[in-house]
Amino acid sequence: MTATILDGKALAQELREVARDEIAILAGRLGRAPGLAVVQVEGDPASSRYVRTIGKLCEAAGAAFRVELLPPDTSDATLQAVIAALNGDPAVDGVLIQLPLPAHLDTAAAVMALDHRKDVDGVHPINAGLLAQGRPALVPNTPAGGMELLRRYGIDPRGMRAAVVGRSAIVGRPMAQLLTLADATVTVCHSRTADLGAVLRECELVCVAAGRPGLVTAAMIRPGAVVVDFGTNVREDGALVGDVEFGAVVEVAGAITPVPGGTGPMTNAMLLRNLITAAARR
Ligand code: NDP
Repeated sequence: MTATILDGKALAQELREVARDEIAILAGRLGRAPGLAVVQVEGDPASSRYVRTIGKLCEAAGAAFRVELLPPDTSDATLQAVIAALNGDPAVDGVLIQLPLPAHLDTAAAVMALDHRKDVDGVHPINAGLLAQGRPALVPNTPAGGMELLRRYGIDPRGMRAAVVGRSAIVGRPMAQLLTLADATVTVCHSRTADLGAVLRECELVCVAAGRPGLVTAAMIRPGAVVVDFGTNVREDGALVGDVEFGAVVEVAGAITPVPGGTGPMTNAMLLRNLITAAARR
């Protein structure tokens, strides 16, 4: 059996077009384009690439975009003052703090300084808390994108035994909460899980966000299971690979996200959706 490929690239393109139409309608209502601001502390080339991608995404969708680029030696006080100014700026509907911040900065304090109503990354403790209580508001984009992919392919997690590998605040943990809200029975696995394969083989749905290439092998997957790979790893030869051994698992699974072209493009599309939600609520 060869698995159905869950094509995030195609779906994200469709979602971006829908977002463009919604943004045009919102712009008419607000009398201005919905606006996203990114706070970036200089120094990390990967961050700069990502910020450029978000800029293009916003431009294509008709949203206003700006970057607050701060020097590498920025202090906590300056960073938080910039965030506070964006909180109070009526032209800004969404604020994204580009993470990771340099080690000398207090990430938790920066995130706390955000107005949770503008938190389009879903990282503020109020948004995380609302999700944990089963009342999602602004949800982190990567797990939201994974859920949307499942929904669009008619995969309903209700009643499924599901495993999430990874428990980070930005991917694994919120994914487990979204699956619980969708009535799956969820096991969260992490680096101390004993016999990962035994846990995964019990599950009809396996979501992986560990950042470990090749962690999930075909022998760990129940035949016909749905596999969602959030892993984004750059191999030595420059190739982008997930956490799942795609070539072998595709022969066992019922459906699987490829890397690249699966969950990655969905993340950006969901960022536009959060921006629309934040702008519409203002
Ligand atoms: P983190 O490093 O914050 O978390 C990784 C998690 O995986 C931890 O909970 C860790 O366990 C767990 N883990 C590590 N090794 C193992 C192992 N051998 N067995 C089981 N669990 C393990 O990473 P993120 O959540 O930020 O990102 C995870 C992956 O998703 C990365 O590849 C990242 O690049 C990718 N990503 C993809 C996005 C997308 O758009 N598709 C967006 C964001 C991230 P423990 O808690 O015990 O340390």
